Amino acid sequence: MTIAMAASELFPYVKSGGLADAVGGLCKELSRYETTIAVIPLYRSIDRVRFGIKPTEIAFTLELGKKAYDIKIYHAVFEGMETYFIYHPILCDSDTLYESSDNDLRFGVFAHALCVLAADHLSIDVLHLHDWQSALAAPLAKAVYKLECRVVLSIHNLAFQGVFAKEAVERLNLGWELFTMERLEFYDQVNFLKGGIAYADAVSTVSPSYALEIVSAEYGAQLEGFLLHHQEKLSGILNGIDTVEFDPSHDPSLGHPFDARHLDNKRRQKEALCDELSLSDSRRPLLAYVGRLAEQKGIRELVEVIRAVQDAPLNIVILGSGEGIYESLCKTLQRYENVKIILKYDEALSRRIYAASDFFLMPSTFEPCGLAQMIAMRYGSIPIVRRTGGLKDTVADFCDLEGRAPSEYAGIGIGMEACDVETFMHALIKALSLYGNEAMMREFIVYNMNKDFSWHRPALAYLALYRSLNP
Ligand code: ADP
Repeated sequence: MTIAMAASELFPYVKSGGLADAVGGLCKELSRYETTIAVIPLYRSIDRVRFGIKPTEIAFTLELGKKAYDIKIYHAVFEGMETYFIYHPILCDSDTLYESSDNDLRFGVFAHALCVLAADHLSIDVLHLHDWQSALAAPLAKAVYKLECRVVLSIHNLAFQGVFAKEAVERLNLGWELFTMERLEFYDQVNFLKGGIAYADAVSTVSPSYALEIVSAEYGAQLEGFLLHHQEKLSGILNGIDTVEFDPSHDPSLGHPFDARHLDNKRRQKEALCDELSLSDSRRPLLAYVGRLAEQKGIRELVEVIRAVQDAPLNIVILGSGEGIYESLCKTLQRYENVKIILKYDEALSRRIYAASDFFLMPSTFEPCGLAQMIAMRYGSIPIVRRTGGLKDTVADFCDLEGRAPSEYAGIGIGMEACDVETFMHALIKALSLYGNEAMMREFIVYNMNKDFSWHRPALAYLALYRSLNP
C-alpha cells in the first residue's frame, strides 16, 4: 500500500504547533509498515540545505481562474522520511504560515498541485489529508481529478475551517456545482474543511472524545449538523507522540538527562531551570504552561488563578506565544517574583520546562487531542487538565482511580470538570497535597513515564481504517 500524507506542516521541516508533530510522528511510524510519502509546501522558511531538499524533474502549470501557476516539485529523504515539496511563490513566499489574505489561493493551489502530483507522478492507494489547508484536495480528487484512491481527512482542530468569499469558486476552478449546502457552501461562502468532510471516504479526529463532542453545538463550530449527517464515516484515533524525539533520557536540550529509574536528575533539571529563570527556592512545586496563547487554551482562566495564588509557596513558569491580548494578559503577571513569563517560541526551553516542572497546566476550553500533556507525562510532569476532548482520554484523575490503573490510553494526573477559578483552585490544592506525598507522587511520575504514548497504536489504527475502505 502507498500512502500520501498531505499537510501544511510537518516536523522537522516546519512547525507552528501540534499538527506538525502529529503528521511527522504518524508518517515516521506508518513508513515502518507501508510506503509513506509526505507532501507539504516548500515555504521560504524551510532550510533546504540542512534537509537536503533537491529539485526534481517534475514541473507543471495549473490553469486556475484564467491565470497560470507554474508549479515546481522538490524532494528529500530526511531521517528515513520521504517528502515531496510543492513550490509556487504564492503558496510558499509569504512571511507567515497562515496570516495571509490570499489563503484561499495559496491552499487552493496546494490542493490542485497535490492532486496533479498524485495523479501523474505517484501511484498511491491512500490520500490522507490533514485540516483545512489540504482538505480541498478531497473534492478535487473525487469530483475533478477522479483519482482512484481512498481519501481520508483528519481534523486536528475544527475551530479552523478555511472559510473564504465565494469568488474562490472561480478563482480555483471548483465549479459552481460544488457550491451547494451538501458540499462546499457555508453561509454563502466556501468552506474548505466542509468540502473535505463531504467528499472524504473517512473522516477522523485526533481523539475519540473529540469525535463525539464535535457533533454537538458546544464543540461543533457550526458544522455539528453536517458532521452528524456524516457520522457513519467519522471516528476518533488518539494521537501519539514521537517517543524517540521526546525522550528525557536522550534529549540534547537537557543538562541532566533522566529516565524513570533515575529521577534524581529530574530534580537537578529543576534546580538548573530555577537558576536559569531566577526562581527562588527550587524545593517549591514548579507549575508550568507551554503552548499557544489563545482563547482555546484557557489562558484567561490561567492568568486569573495565578493572580489568586500569587502568595502561595509555588513557582510558576509560562512559555508561550500567540494572540496579542493573551500575551498582554500574561505580561500582567510579570510583577510576581515567583512567576516567570517567557513570550516566545523556544523548542529547547520547552523541553527544559517539561523536564523541570512538577505539574503541567492545561486548562483548555476544548482540546481535540493535545500533545503537550503527553510530552509532560513522558518528562515526569503531572498534568492538571480540563476534562475535555483528548485531555479526557489521556489523563485520569488520581482521585477517581481508587488504586486501579487508568485505561490503557491514559496516564495519571488531575482533572477539572470546568476551568473557573474555584475548580482550578480545588485542583491546585489537590496538586499541593500530592506534592506533599513523595511516595505517591513518585509512583505516578514513574507510571506516566513508562506509559506507551508512542505512535505505534495510532498507526495501526490508521492502517486498519485505510484497509476498511473500499479501494
Ligand atoms: P496545539 O496544536 O493546539 O498548539 P498541542 O498540545 O497539540 O497544541 O501541541 C503543541 C506543541 O507545540 C507541543 O509540542 C508544544 O511543546 C509546542 N509548543 C507550543 N508553544 C510553544 C512555545 N512557545 N515554545 C516551544 N514549544 C511550543
